[in-house]
Amino acid sequence: MYEAKNAGRDCCRLFEPRMEAESLSRRELASDLEAALTRGQLDVHYQPVVDAASLEARGMEALARWKHPTRGFVPPLEFIPVAEKAGLIGRLGEYILTRACRDAVAWPASVKVAVNVSSLQLSAGDLPDVVRRALRASGLPANRLELEITESVLLDRNAANIRQLLALRELGVGVVLDDFGTGYSSLSYLNSFPFDKIKIDKSFIDGLGTRAEASAIVLATISIAKSLNAVTTAEGVETLEQAELLRSAAVTEMQGYLLGKPRPASDWLFVDGKAVLAADVSGAALAA
Ligand code: C2E
Ligand code: MG
Ligand code: MG
Repeated sequence: MYEAKNAGRDCCRLFEPRMEAESLSRRELASDLEAALTRGQLDVHYQPVVDAASLEARGMEALARWKHPTRGFVPPLEFIPVAEKAGLIGRLGEYILTRACRDAVAWPASVKVAVNVSSLQLSAGDLPDVVRRALRASGLPANRLELEITESVLLDRNAANIRQLLALRELGVGVVLDDFGTGYSSLSYLNSFPFDKIKIDKSFIDGLGTRAEASAIVLATISIAKSLNAVTTAEGVETLEQAELLRSAAVTEMQGYLLGKPRPASDWLFVDGKAVLAADVSGAALAA
């Protein structure tokens, strides 16, 4: 049944032994994830989001990390869907949000924290309460928290989800559209909700300087965002050439391995407004 559903429904699939093994492995992963949540074994890494002109840190994106006791590191693109299917995403989401707010309190006031939110957390209807709790427990001002949602949240102009986003906006938190351009009707989502920030998906940044189409789409997105008074962030910036092109296109912010990879909170220091690795600072001090 699940194979047929995943293949887009309206079709049939014959049972194969591989399917049972996969479903067993998913169920195992779900129960291991629940145990990890109960024991507080999930981790959060942070990746800097920097101002394109000054390279000062404007925010840090919280990214969930899970080291499975026997399988080793499981990527979020694997365990987030498991959490969603197993009904664990609410707990997982609140855990990450609470941790992220608590970590962010120690950073300079000019540095925000961005937390990814699953569409299921939004449709559950209690996200504004969860956010209020996390802010109160940490003491983080609402305007230092950003929530990143993907385009699927607004599929079919989901009115209940839009009400939730408006309630979050009322609290004072920023609402960010993640992975822009990869959805089913990306431009129409910009028409459904006034986003504070639009993150241009890495697939377009990858093509900068090599594919004329990618450059055209990036330039057009930056221009549309500007007209909508939204900040733009280029995701997955890996090369100097990409960064130079983005700067000349007047993108607001950049994020990617070129500027810094995701690391635990304890690895980051803020020096002259920039996020730097503590190990680099102590290395430089030794060399001096
Ligand atoms: P995302 O929110 O778009 O996060 C950016 C992803 O791109 C991260 O992958 C990051 O490590 C990766 N990345 C950043 N810069 C570069 C680069 O220059 N090159 C390359 N190749 N990759 C780069 P990660 O951590 O594996 O997360 C994947 C996705 O999983 C995230 O995409 C987000 O959608 C989801 N995710 C992660 N943590 C959470 C969470 O706490 N809750 C929810 N609901 N989703 C999460
Ligand atoms: Mg994100
Ligand atoms: Mg993204």
